[in-house]
Amino acid sequence: MSMISLPRSGQCKWAEGTGGNYYFPCKNRVTPGVSYCDEHRALVYISPEERRRQRSEAPQLVQRKAAA
Ligand SMILES: [Zn+2]
Repeated sequence: MSMISLPRSGQCKWAEGTGGNYYFPCKNRVTPGVSYCDEHRALVYISPEERRRQRSEAPQLVQRKAAA
């Protein structure tokens, strides 16, 4: 039995949930053939390396902005 309702085409396919109970909270529109909106695409395609770099760079960026 599947309670999963797939998002419509043209809708972001960002899924949340666990244990097979997924839902699609994002109602952002996407262009046909694209799975995720910009926001979620950034989350999906971010590599662990990139994530680590962003985390270590973030405080510095804030400081630089505050100083400027
Ligand atoms: Zn989205």
